[in-house]
Amino acid sequence: MHTDLSGLKFTMTVGGLPLDGQSAFDVVNPATGTVIAAAPDCSREQLDQAVSAARQAFSAWARRSVAERQRFLLVMADAIDAHTDLLSHLVTLEQGKPRAVADTEVAGLSYWLRETARMELPETVNQDDAERYSVTRHVPVGVVAAITPWNYPIGQASFKLGPALLAGNTVVLKPSAFTPLANLKLGEILRDVLPAGVLNVITGTGGLGSWVTAHSGVDKISFTGSTQTGRRVMAGAADSLTRITLELGGNDPAIVLPDVDVRTVAPQLFWAAFANTGQICLAIKRLYLHADIYDEMAAELAELARTVVVGDPAREDVQLGPVSNLRQYETVLELLRDSRDDGHTFLAGGLPTAGTPGYFVAPTLIDNPPEDARIVREEQFGPVLPLLKYTDIDDAVARANASEYGLGASVWSADADAAFRVAEQLQAGTVWVNEVMHLHPQVPFGGRKQSGIGVESGLAGLLEFTEPQTLIIKRTV
Ligand code: NDP
Repeated sequence: MHTDLSGLKFTMTVGGLPLDGQSAFDVVNPATGTVIAAAPDCSREQLDQAVSAARQAFSAWARRSVAERQRFLLVMADAIDAHTDLLSHLVTLEQGKPRAVADTEVAGLSYWLRETARMELPETVNQDDAERYSVTRHVPVGVVAAITPWNYPIGQASFKLGPALLAGNTVVLKPSAFTPLANLKLGEILRDVLPAGVLNVITGTGGLGSWVTAHSGVDKISFTGSTQTGRRVMAGAADSLTRITLELGGNDPAIVLPDVDVRTVAPQLFWAAFANTGQICLAIKRLYLHADIYDEMAAELAELARTVVVGDPAREDVQLGPVSNLRQYETVLELLRDSRDDGHTFLAGGLPTAGTPGYFVAPTLIDNPPEDARIVREEQFGPVLPLLKYTDIDDAVARANASEYGLGASVWSADADAAFRVAEQLQAGTVWVNEVMHLHPQVPFGGRKQSGIGVESGLAGLLEFTEPQTLIIKRTV
């Protein structure tokens, strides 16, 4: 296991070669608040270089057969498996999640690549007779910019890389400046695996995201991040009509029916809300509990919140790490202060003691705040969960749906059919019964309403990285 980063150098990958930034920026460990490494800060000229390397590599990559590109994905997966220790150590240090969770995240990338390598690009024969042959196939878009957030630095890349490359595109990957290190190493690991320019990895602060979005050499933007930034991406893409897929924020409701076994379901709900310190787009963010079980469930959840081990994820016993960066920490604290000032009751957790190092917030449960409270309406993206009481299921469904977001949702019940009938009424891209966050490379996921445009994964997700092209041969002259 690597213990420090002093022997490691972090460079961008452009055209198959290492590239230093024109300057560098600090990367902070959120568990300690200390600087752990310097990452390259990509200049505008270097972005041009990366896009042009991707453009140059495109025609040869697109001409390869799908079978060849499938084989490349498998070799990528093997290369990643050979470096899981380093990658997951970097994820833990820069993002703040426990090592076991980081291991699963990194393993998820090679799994996603292998599963994607089993996929084919479909062709539809529209007409095939004496008069005419007409076929619609799916061709690559060109240079894909993959822009990812900090909550799963490697995991978010895994939803984009395999499908974009399999479809025949080349990629410029731009991770969040809060978590650049694992992605920079990923670029380095894959330098010898992929032809030069097929995958470029750049990092930077300030305007890099908006430069990428508005770059005339980018044909497709696959963006994951907040709804607010998603709007900017869409506006930036408008001039060139650049294709976009947007995976955005969520405020996922869970509705718990009164027939559940509270002791069995409570830990599942707890982890569905607090895993990765609540920083998961598909985490439960509003928990609607039937009045008959409200008190008992609240007590069970509060007990879990009080006993879970929160601390530096470098320690093996730690189950929940810090909030991942200062910006998000301040967002969470602002929501907590708003709740406190509005007189809400904290059943567990609350505002942290000032002056402690690292961005730690104990898992916090808020007792039945009003539906129009900020902590109910806004995406907290941190370890804070409002518990909301309902008596009438139609009222619970209406409240769950009264959101600008529509990413995920869940219904919990001993009666799966009854839960399914409720699930069908929820306005979300994915609705689970008796679980959440189960994703699969062959199953599309995406958001309705302001949670996004388009999907990732599955055939539909693969086709987001293509454009339909119809070829027609007239057989009679
Ligand atoms: P941000 O929107 O702040 O950032 C996402 C990415 O966009 C980062 O790489 C960021 O770079 C970059 N970026 C910033 N400004 C621009 C811009 N003007 N144009 C283009 N790119 C830009 O989101 P967070 O990183 O804070 O991630 C948290 C959000 O992501 C939450 O809302 C969460 O719900 C959502 N999310 C959605 C998921 C989904 O699948 N629907 C999955 C996971 C998270 P930098 O960080 O360097 O500024």
